[in-house]
Order: sequence, then structure tokens, then C-alpha cells
Amino acid sequence: MNEIVVTEQEVLATYEEFKKNAEASGYYLNPDVEFTKELIRGLIYNKKRYGYFSCPCRIALGVRSLDLDIICPCDYRDDDLKDYGFCYCGLYVTKEVIDQNKKVHSIPDRRGFANKLTVSQNASQEKVLKLSLPVWRCRVCGYLCARIAPPELCPICKADKDRFEKFI
Ligand code: SF4
Repeated sequence: MNEIVVTEQEVLATYEEFKKNAEASGYYLNPDVEFTKELIRGLIYNKKRYGYFSCPCRIALGVRSLDLDIICPCDYRDDDLKDYGFCYCGLYVTKEVIDQNKKVHSIPDRRGFANKLTVSQNASQEKVLKLSLPVWRCRVCGYLCARIAPPELCPICKADKDRFEKFI
């Protein structure tokens, strides 16, 4: 296998892209630029290795359908931002963390629990709601839409189509 090389230019371009997308959706990247760029470097490395931006802080299986929940931004980002002020890797932080210059530290990985919760929540909602079109939920930001199929890109967080799950 060829050695995977990530150039400084790629890191810079991807950093700018992530920053732009984050800010357009009301999210913030960690203001520690060097730290953030290292995470971006890991994301690019994973993209070259697996074909998608697998979380740089978690072990990927290398099969997109099995790693969907940890494609950045992962399914756990928003809950971690809500509870801790930053995501598991510390790539995304809240405004409060920036304004108060709070330190990012290690937090528990909620991977493994969220999916079970989502399934049981959906099951109970399915019993009480009946709609003519299926409702799709973006697993990254929670955006909901009623349509025949999920959109190609989430209009809110720009996650790909396969990050949507059938909600109802
Ligand atoms: S949002 Fe999730 S996938 Fe992206 S860097 Fe943070 S923890 Fe990793």
C-alpha cells in the first residue's frame, strides 16, 4: 500500500472549508488553530485511506456504512457540545468555550449508546404518528424533512444523503 501523504496546502484548504461550513451553520471550530489543523490533518488522512472523513479520534472499520455515525461531523457532536461544550475530539466547540477561554479536555465517548436510544425513540413515535410521506432525520444536526427520499445534502449542516435516517 502506498504511503498516505497529507500536504500543508490540503490541511489549509480543508481547514478553511470546515470553518466556513461550521460558521454558516452556527458552529465554531476550536480557536486553537494548530490543534485544529492537526485534527483536520487526521480527517484528510482518513479520507484518503477510507474515502470519507472518519473521526480522527476513533478507530474506523473502513466500511462507510459501518462508520456512518463517526463521519465528521459525527452523530454525537451536538450532544457533546450541549453537555460539555466541545465534541469528543475537540474540533468543534461552543461560543461559550471560546468566550470564556475554557480548556478542552477528554470526555467519554458516547458511541454505542446513541443508536440504541434513537431506535427506541423512533419505535415509540412510529406508533402514534402516521404521515403520507416518510420523514427523514439528519443524524448529524437533527434536521427533519418529509419527502420520498432524503436530500443529497443536508441544507443545514451539509452532511451527505446517507447520514439521514428514516424518522417516521
Ligand atoms: S465532530 Fe465528531 S467526528 Fe468530528 S472531530 Fe468531533 S468527535 Fe470527531
